[in-house]
Amino acid sequence: MKNKEELRRILKRINGKGYKAYKDTTGSYDFSDYVFIIDHVQGDPFALPSRVRVRVSLKRSAIPLEIFHTKSREIALRDYLARQFSKSVGKYSKGVRGVGKSGLLSIDTPGQEVLEISAVSVDNESIEVRFTLGLPAFGRSVAGKEAETIIFAEIPRIVLDSLFYENIDNDSMSKHVKTVEDADFIRSELKTLGLKAFVPDGAILPRASGADNCPLLSKHVVQFTSPDSLRVEINLPNAGKITGMGIPAGITLIAGGGYHGKSTLLKALELGVYNHIPGDGREFTVTVANAVKIRSEDGRRVSNVDVSPFINNLPLGLDTTSFSTEDASGSTSQAANILEAVEIGTDLLLIDEDTSATNFMIRDRRMQELVSKDKEPVTPFIDKMRQLRDEFGVSVVLVMGGSGDYFDVADIVICMDEYLSVDVTEKAKEIAGKYKNGRKAEGGPDFGALKKRFPVKSGFDPSRGKSDAKIVARGLKSIDFGNYNIDLGAVEQIVDSSQTRAIGMAIYYALNKYINGARSLGEIIQLVMRDISDHGLDILTKFPTGDMATFRGQELACAINRLRTLKIS
Ligand code: ADP
Ligand code: MG
Repeated sequence: MKNKEELRRILKRINGKGYKAYKDTTGSYDFSDYVFIIDHVQGDPFALPSRVRVRVSLKRSAIPLEIFHTKSREIALRDYLARQFSKSVGKYSKGVRGVGKSGLLSIDTPGQEVLEISAVSVDNESIEVRFTLGLPAFGRSVAGKEAETIIFAEIPRIVLDSLFYENIDNDSMSKHVKTVEDADFIRSELKTLGLKAFVPDGAILPRASGADNCPLLSKHVVQFTSPDSLRVEINLPNAGKITGMGIPAGITLIAGGGYHGKSTLLKALELGVYNHIPGDGREFTVTVANAVKIRSEDGRRVSNVDVSPFINNLPLGLDTTSFSTEDASGSTSQAANILEAVEIGTDLLLIDEDTSATNFMIRDRRMQELVSKDKEPVTPFIDKMRQLRDEFGVSVVLVMGGSGDYFDVADIVICMDEYLSVDVTEKAKEIAGKYKNGRKAEGGPDFGALKKRFPVKSGFDPSRGKSDAKIVARGLKSIDFGNYNIDLGAVEQIVDSSQTRAIGMAIYYALNKYINGARSLGEIIQLVMRDISDHGLDILTKFPTGDMATFRGQELACAINRLRTLKIS
């Protein structure tokens, strides 16, 4: 490690020289309060900014060990520090100066969810923060003086302000880690309680807008209130006793009039696989970790999925036990989405009528009369959900305001009424007894077999042009994998583009390490997730990067399943 004065000398020496001279600054420098590391210098002022790190010893920072002595707390602290660092950048960085990204300081900052991120790590020795710095230039020449200001004046202030215990708002940090710990506690309690999800009394579920995940702050917000019949009590390690609605294993229907808050409740359950920051309103709205949102997704590619539990007798005699298409329909895509989710392993499917194919959900008595079963390839979900529950232990929460036929197969019916939830199970069963739906159950007595699929290496080509591997995440919902685009537009439980980036790299990792035609997709996903859990996200990249966040095996599988070149042996 070099002394920081060495870095100052280098900057003075290269001032005004060609931009490439910045390469000389690569290395580690002792700033006494912390170590400053320049990992990778950008090629020019317009390229992706340079990758840098600071490492503060825990002794100097003085953040007490008990703040992060559990894994939950550690993840929460890392998330908290990233947010603080970002705020301090806002306070102390003068921002862009010079051309391109000159002077731009930036750290990957999470949204409403608390994810395990690669931007910050902590252990018993030190805190490491990874961020990017646009090394400044005038024209194509090194702006040495400006670089010196950023590195010797701005960054030290940011580090001091955000990473030293004495300058951190202790109450808010403590609340952050305790909230996340409590949410994880609820998730771990669900099993003991026989529940698949929990929504606390007092939760604020609606969001500010369709494009803004912050809580809706308005005097018209109705706080969530559990029906008495479903109310459970949980004793949290930090917040103490809370009550709320427990959604038990089985089939839960959410009925109610349009605009009464059905989809808002389901959305909160979808994102309940993640923890949320204090003040979000959904802090303790928690779902089993492997819950999967299912929707229709016409146009997606499907590779060799056995969709025969739902789809049979397709026109032209197309095989549905190993069904492939470049352009799935609404119903076939929804069937494939369910079977792929169950293949990877899920305890809970979350389905909203708003994003479902009608003919996948509903086939009523009259339609059964008009179109006989041998002319209708689709066996509707209503005839399959009990088999899913009984044969595979898969529960379902289904938003259904449009068809009372579902009363027959539901275990619980909740009605949303002006944003309040009411348990109407008895009434719904009474109605089902009084007005028979007259349907004939379709699709046979069993769900049907679940088939494993074995991806082969030749179905993955990450190369583009001269590069052996070019994998670029484009925002939240799109990954360029070599020359092919993976469209994740309908994968609704990805919440952060840093997850998308990590998923892209994880496909490449799986390809190099585990995909061999002999391992099933389920096994491959399990192995990759185990490696990440054991060794961290850094195993996915050659160099340390600060822009990845953890994701679930389900979403990794979603990305692989949507690769248009995927081949199954
Ligand atoms: P549904 O699916 O029943 O048609 P939504 O869940 O889409 O209804 O909600 C309709 C509207 O009501 C949305 O704009 C949503 O933000 C708002 N909303 C949902 N829940 C609440 C609530 N608890 N308090 C106030 N507004 C809410
Ligand atoms: Mg809706």
